[in-house]
Amino acid sequence: MVEYEAVIGLEVHAQLKTRSKIFCGCPTTFGADANENVCPVCLGMPGVLPVLNKRAVEHGIKCGIALNCSIAETTKFDRKNYFYPDLPKGYQISQYDQPICSNGHLTIDGRKIRILRAHLEEDAGKLVHAGADGLHGSDYSKPDFNRAGVPLLEIVSEPDIRDAEHARRYLTELRTILRYLDVCDGDLEKGNFRCDANVSVRPFGQEELGTKAEIKNLNSFSAVERAIKFEIDRQTALVRSGQKVKQETRLWDENSGKTHSMRSKEGARDYRYFPEPDLVPLHIDRQWVASIEKTMPELPEARRERLIKDTGLPNEIAVVVVERQELATFFDEVLALGAQPGTARAFLDQALACYNKNTGYTITESIVTAQNIKDIVCSLDSGEINTGTAKTLMTELMESSSVGDAEAVDIPTVIKQRGLAQMSNEDELRSMISAVIAANPKQVEEFKAGKQKVREFFLGQVMKQTKGKANPKILNQVLDEELAK
Ligand code: ADP
Ligand code: MG
Ligand code: ZN
Repeated sequence: MVEYEAVIGLEVHAQLKTRSKIFCGCPTTFGADANENVCPVCLGMPGVLPVLNKRAVEHGIKCGIALNCSIAETTKFDRKNYFYPDLPKGYQISQYDQPICSNGHLTIDGRKIRILRAHLEEDAGKLVHAGADGLHGSDYSKPDFNRAGVPLLEIVSEPDIRDAEHARRYLTELRTILRYLDVCDGDLEKGNFRCDANVSVRPFGQEELGTKAEIKNLNSFSAVERAIKFEIDRQTALVRSGQKVKQETRLWDENSGKTHSMRSKEGARDYRYFPEPDLVPLHIDRQWVASIEKTMPELPEARRERLIKDTGLPNEIAVVVVERQELATFFDEVLALGAQPGTARAFLDQALACYNKNTGYTITESIVTAQNIKDIVCSLDSGEINTGTAKTLMTELMESSSVGDAEAVDIPTVIKQRGLAQMSNEDELRSMISAVIAANPKQVEEFKAGKQKVREFFLGQVMKQTKGKANPKILNQVLDEELAK
């Protein structure tokens, strides 16, 4: 039987964080009343002239550098013509044959994904389908042009992705980069980071690409992954049974977990692209590019490598930590204060657990400071407190509970006041162990008969009596000595 492989290319529309729109002075604020942020330019009135937003270009250049692209010496804008009620001008200003960024790549888990281009364009308006049950049952639609003219960067990958998980990793990495650059909020649910997935299949070993379907309406990372999986299965089944894949745009339906056909796909020719006559071509000065590059922060890939090298963190954890920039920065601060990287890693486990438990949790919202974590980690290192206590303290602080006053938690004081220091006094522990052994002759007998598990019973008893504060190392050692008697 012929085996098939999937070929995937992603198109991402990232909304660039600027205060005003790309060709007019209207604000880009999210959540304004319908048609509050509009003017004759973004409404496409006759006779108006667009003026290019410098910050949008700067953001575009930043992304290009981060994605290893060449930044065009000369770039220009083009009109992409089509008719739709959310586009009053009848065309979208975009970039056709001279995009601002081209020929880049990202390396994800050791595999290179080439980036064909990234270009600037304006967003269209939005139609609110009113009445009945929305899109299909509605009687009328209300256009809202607040979004018209908001700057977008469309980032187009080459078809170098081979499975759904890899597509998801590419997307998350792209989003993390844009967030590190502070040029995009990267929120799929809010629509400021949108992704269309192009999927085709071909027999293994074949060079030529199969016919692709483009999937839209992907509102979450999991939707992207599931839609691609579904589409690969659908297409594979089609070609296996001797049928052909149609070139079309398909919509992902979250409820049924399926994609369905929306329309046959327009080709570039249908858009009748031509140069935007109201904007002159833009020459991008190399000095400008260099000065922008100087303002860029350390990027996720470099940060992961540094974290792994400095702390021996496994790659999977480094990926998750670096994705949460504020957590990575916080961890850097803890290390800078002098905590041992080896022990400090325990904090990351706790922080990630906390993150999963409280969705939307960010470290900066809790009362915990880098100094607190450093103090906990150092007390752990010195043997003053044990691992269990360290974990409890970290979690309490990160969840801002029961530690009390939101300001100035001093860990050494908390340890003293709450009596959290480990019991490391050997004699004291020995007399407790002797008492437990004396009180449980049956268990001692079982142990002597070779039932190793009973040992844990004794440990548990002493831990209970000490409220979890016994120094585990000393406890274990003394217990063995006493049981051997
Ligand atoms: P279109 O003109 O339909 O938008 P493009 O050639 O511009 O098509 O490609 C758009 C996206 O589709 C790119 O991300 C590209 O990598 C991807 N792509 C192109 N051909 C294929 C294919 N046969 N299978 C999967 N993805 C593809
Ligand atoms: Mg396209
Ligand atoms: Zn405007």
